[in-house]
Amino acid sequence: MILHDRTTKLPITTYGIQIPITGSNAGRTLDYLLSREDLSERRDTWLREENFPPLTREAIERVHDPAYVERLLSEDERCDREIERTFELVNPDGTYNRYDPVTAERDLKALRDQSLRLAAGTTRAVELALDGRDNRAEDFWFYLGGGMHHGQYDFGEGFCPVNDLVIAVRTQQAAGRIRNAWIVDVDAHKGDGTAALTAEDPTIHTLSVHMARGWPLDQPRELPDGRPNPSWIPSDIDVPIDSGQESEYVPRLQNALVELEEKFGVPDFLLVVDGADPYERDQLPSAELLRMSAEQLLERDTHLYRWGRDRNLPMVFVMAGNYGYHSWEVFSAFLERQIAGEI
Ligand SMILES: [Zn+2]
Repeated sequence: MILHDRTTKLPITTYGIQIPITGSNAGRTLDYLLSREDLSERRDTWLREENFPPLTREAIERVHDPAYVERLLSEDERCDREIERTFELVNPDGTYNRYDPVTAERDLKALRDQSLRLAAGTTRAVELALDGRDNRAEDFWFYLGGGMHHGQYDFGEGFCPVNDLVIAVRTQQAAGRIRNAWIVDVDAHKGDGTAALTAEDPTIHTLSVHMARGWPLDQPRELPDGRPNPSWIPSDIDVPIDSGQESEYVPRLQNALVELEEKFGVPDFLLVVDGADPYERDQLPSAELLRMSAEQLLERDTHLYRWGRDRNLPMVFVMAGNYGYHSWEVFSAFLERQIAGEI
């Protein structure tokens, strides 16, 4: 089943930010799937549209520093400073970086609210997948949003003010619905926030397949305030892929899944951070070090899906990184086959 919230999809340029998040790869994916008559006529069997309320403070504080949450949720300039940092809007010399407040139609607190609504969808998708497990109904959900894997304990980074993935898992753990989970991250960028937040948590295991070089792995070992940089904390298994090694990507992912299962056993839940930014037609400059073909990415997603299906796991895939006008092709290729029962 696909989960979607049309109200969360304002383009980021609305806020005066010039980043190629076009905000509509979710919409393009849906438009494509609905253009197939055979799928469109039974849309009720695979599409659910809801309006999510923003994440609650309680849910966020299961994962993040309460003092950070206080600043982020404030209605004053403390929130603006946190969002500026998260979206990298200010240079060290105080000038703006790809940000022009004059062109903004909405302020940064509205961007905070939009981000928290997007983040809430991941929690909702996990809840629906567990409902499916309990009621012998659909327990695979693909959320057309989410994937804020750079969110750290006491700061946001890489467009991720909070970590929706860890929040979603901890929320269901707190409700007693799962004991443990895996977060498998195949976005082009390392799932550094997820790894750091769960490093001491024996109930959440992490696997990240990502660009061997480039952000966030090109950061200093220390933060500006002298603390160790949490981006360097490893996942349970990290699989760095260098430029030119794209053909090794899927085999190495397959091996890593085997290794994780041998180490930790099958989890209660599988959450996949299904970024399209390794795609050769994705348009984020910082993700250009990986140039996977559409066929390779379909093989990736198909393998992850079958891995969970073979173990009867409730699963959620979230969209994660997708930039520019072509990334919808990755999601659509997988979903049209999944919905049609061809995988
Ligand atoms: Zn990414």
